[in-house]
Amino acid sequence: MIQISQLHKKFGKLVVLDGLDLDIEAGGIFAVLGPNGSGKTTLIKSILGMVIPNSGAIQIDGKSVLKKWEYRNQINYLPQIANFPANLSVKELIAMVKNLRPKESNEKDLIELFGLTPFIDKKLGNLSGGTKQKVNIVLTFMFDSDIIILDEPTTGLDPIALIHLKKIIQQEKAKGKTILITTHIMSFVDEIADEIVFLLDGNIYFKGSIENLKTKTEQTDLEHAIAH
Ligand code: ATP
Repeated sequence: MIQISQLHKKFGKLVVLDGLDLDIEAGGIFAVLGPNGSGKTTLIKSILGMVIPNSGAIQIDGKSVLKKWEYRNQINYLPQIANFPANLSVKELIAMVKNLRPKESNEKDLIELFGLTPFIDKKLGNLSGGTKQKVNIVLTFMFDSDIIILDEPTTGLDPIALIHLKKIIQQEKAKGKTILITTHIMSFVDEIADEIVFLLDGNIYFKGSIENLKTKTEQTDLEHAIAH
């Protein structure tokens, strides 16, 4: 279980998270929604220990993530922007990451599934955005982890890759994993999320099912709010 209490984060004078409280039960798919700049990535990076909040507490299974940096390696994380070294090949990058936990990795099936075999010797700097995102996905799912955090995983993916991604996420859920996803794609959320966490003005505007969110916001243009 992830417990977040009274999380405050400012960048200079900009208040991004303003006393945010959030409990995420273990197991299930949680979509983190909200307008651009509402703090989704900041929240995720705080859980990962990559952003240090001004105040507040974050605990995973009762242990503080802010003090325990080792948690960072126990969470599988797909960053919104993957800064891959341009001169490495796909194969070289995967081998480097695989070295971290050689016995546990499961990259071969993922490379095949996402059609990356023809690109395996290509330099990362020469790949299209969508192909890089497929590499990003392989790196995220090649290790086993109880918590999986995906920041805009659908970016640039073709429809077939989207179907595979959806299936992998659902398989991880079936294994009892906790999956947090930020996305602006409502159809993706509709199909797979168990619960929605909607951020607005530095806090949780809504937490619950997609149906309840739609009811709550029927007077407002939700799609517009999410996209802008
Ligand atoms: P998007 O939907 O566009 O990805 P988001 O909800 O993930 O947005 P964040 O990336 O968390 O939003 O950013 C929240 C706000 O904090 C934005 O105004 C952003 O410019 C600002 N911000 C984020 N990181 C930093 C930083 N390191 N330094 C200064 N400002 C930052």
